Formats: sequence, C-alpha cells, structure tokens
Amino acid sequence: MKTALRGAMLTFRDDPFTHALSDCAVYEPDAVIVMANGLIDAVGPAADILPTLSADVPVTVWRDCVLLPGFIDSHVHYPQTEMIGAHGEQLIDWLNNYTFVAEQGFSDKTHAAEIAEVFLREQHRNGVTASTVFCTVHPQSVDALFEAAARVNMRIMAGKVCMDRHAPAALLDTPQRAYDESKALIGKWHGRGRAEYVITPRFAPTSTPEQLDALGSLAQDFPTTLIQSHLAENIDELAWVRALFPSCTHYTDVYQRYGLLRPRALYGHGIHLSEAELDILSATGSAIVHCPTSNFFLGSGCFDLRRARDARRPVAVGLGTDLGAGTSFSILQTLNEAYKTAQFHGFPLSAAQAIYLATRGNARALGLDDRIGAIEAGMEADIAVLDLMSTPLIAYRMKYARDWQDALFIQMTLGDDRAIAATYIAGQQVHCRNG
Ligand SMILES: [Zn+2]
Repeated sequence: MKTALRGAMLTFRDDPFTHALSDCAVYEPDAVIVMANGLIDAVGPAADILPTLSADVPVTVWRDCVLLPGFIDSHVHYPQTEMIGAHGEQLIDWLNNYTFVAEQGFSDKTHAAEIAEVFLREQHRNGVTASTVFCTVHPQSVDALFEAAARVNMRIMAGKVCMDRHAPAALLDTPQRAYDESKALIGKWHGRGRAEYVITPRFAPTSTPEQLDALGSLAQDFPTTLIQSHLAENIDELAWVRALFPSCTHYTDVYQRYGLLRPRALYGHGIHLSEAELDILSATGSAIVHCPTSNFFLGSGCFDLRRARDARRPVAVGLGTDLGAGTSFSILQTLNEAYKTAQFHGFPLSAAQAIYLATRGNARALGLDDRIGAIEAGMEADIAVLDLMSTPLIAYRMKYARDWQDALFIQMTLGDDRAIAATYIAGQQVHCRNG
C-alpha cells in the first residue's frame, strides 16, 4: 500500500564540501514523497506527483516543516544510555569509573533489552533512523539491540565490543572468544533484514596484539562487514598506545598492521592525527566519525573537519553522538557543536554541509549511500520531519530567515528533540511528537 508525505524537502545528490551547492543540494519548497514497501516509490514537486497518485493514497501534509532524509548516527554506545552526563573525568578515568561499571549490567539480557528499547525510542524522537552502535562484550547485548531494531524494521549496524585487557575481568574476552563470538553473531545477524554486523575492537589499549590479529583475520574472512573502533581521541591515550605498541610508527599504524583499515571501517574521533596518518586513512578508504559533543564533554580536543576533508587526500568523515560521553541524542545539537568545533579552526561549517554530514555523508562513510541518506526513488523510506517553528524563540527568529540555508542553520543552532515533528522508518511512522 502506498502512502505519501507532502512538504518542503531537502536532500543531497552529492557532497557540498567538494561541489558547488547548486550541483549537490536539492531543495523543493513543495514536494511529495510517495512510499511503498519500505522504499521511496517516487519523489518530486507536488504539482508533478499529485496528478499521478490515485485518490485512495493518503497524503500527510507537513506545514512549516522540512522533510529530510532520516538522520544517521555513525558512532554511539547504547549501553551508556543509563550513564549519560557522568561528572568529572577525562577519557581513561571516565571509562574505568563509569563506563566499565555500567557495561557489566549487560550480562543480563533483560536489562539489555530494556535499555535497547529506551535507546531506540530516544533515537526516533530525534529523527535518527539508522545508527552504528557499540554493544558490550556480551553477545546477548548484541541480540537485544538487533531484536529491538527488527521490531521497527530499523537499519542498525552493531557489534560486540572486544576487549582482552585493561578492563574489569567481567568485561574481558580472549582473542579466540572475540573471534568465535563475533563470527557466530555475523552468522546470526549480518544481512538479516536491515541488520549489519560490525567487527568491534573497543580501541587499541583494551586489546592485546593477539586479539587485534584475530579480529583482523575475521575481517578478512568476512570482507563485507563493517569495522568500528576509536582512534586518537585523547592525549593521554596517545602516550598509552605508544607504550603498548612500541613497534608501531603511530596510532593509525596499529590498526593498519592488524588489517583493520579499509572501506567501511569507522574510527571515532581522530582528533590528534598526523598528516601521515590522515594519508593512510584516505588511501585505505577508512572513515573518521566526528563526535563533537563527546569531545567537548571529555575535554578531548577539537577535531579539524576541514583538514580531514582536504581535497588533496580527502578522508571520509561521518558524524556521531558518541553517547554516553556525548551529551545529546539530538543530531541538531550535535551539528551545533560541530559548527563550534569547526569555528575553532577558522572554518564556518555551513548548514548544507552539516545536514549532508548527518545524512548522505554518513551513508557514504558507511558504504550505504545507495540505500539510505537521501530522498530519491528506490532508496529506503527513512524520513525525518523537521518542524521549523518548534519553540517560541525559533518561530520568532524564523521571521528573519532569508532562505532555506538560513532556516536550517537556525534549526541546528537552536533546535533539539522538540524540532522533530515525526520520524518514518521504512515508510512507517515510528514517532509523532504530537501523536
Ligand atoms: Zn565511542
């Protein structure tokens, strides 16, 4: 059965970091999106599409809204939902004092299932329709998330975190268990519905060389899986990695040496990287996921987005909330902080570039831009409805917006979960703010 949405619409054909805006942005002030069987069946100006629709197709009209591709969160830890906003530490102490305590609770599948539901509900309230997620060391934590996502047909990429040192004993596996349990989860979930498995060493300091080697072998055995980890987030972490892997030339070399760099390999943060490391990430097609609210919260540093995207050796960059070090499920708030981070480097990130990062840019980093991240016929019907008037201040400020770019910059600066009027996943409404 067909359904349709009508309203202003913005999507991207291509990358506004490297192309003129007129060549890559598609803004339609009165569009109709027709959805059927979880996909976008047709899209275009209302004047063109409405005459083609039979009278029984319901058309939901969204006034004072912009229909956007559903937001993608490319780096997030669902087990940390219960400890967001934990005070006073930087990365290493924050992990030991808060994260590793919370994650032990996920040996209990019931607990994991409860948090997975809360986590996905918050994502939907914020217009997030796909995400790449760290679970815990426990395979049942992965099952709980994939099962919850399957109930709403949501595109989730997730993996069991692998750690065999420098964490509490209850959170450690071994090289062999990391390989075997990850492999079993690939067999169970990878490609089932909209689920994809992600091979997930937490980060170099919590894996022995033997475990990284085992996970590199697994990646070679399953060349279509995603890979995710963390890279160059914090200054103390850099020194620790140097001490733990003395034969590696730099942090990025650790992952390269163990076969963990390739297209669809996503590394959170990448704040403190040399030119040589950016060269390697670019050459291998690996991506950095920028997580600005987390970087400010943990005092990790300011990622240089413009430098990473340098056209001479562009590195793919995605955007993530990195909860629970990140402080908001809201992609708008994450973009607000991404703008401020870029300002530290003298780069005025535009609204178009920001929205691109959260949609098609993320889809490209994930190697999924033929399925999600844009509103085009044949793509999966994941849509976020952005209300342009969600608070009295925003409604007032919008009177002075000059064009759609101005309007969207206002939204990403002042907006939050209240600005998401509705969220559609695979053509079905999963959230309606006033519903
Ligand atoms: Zn993270």
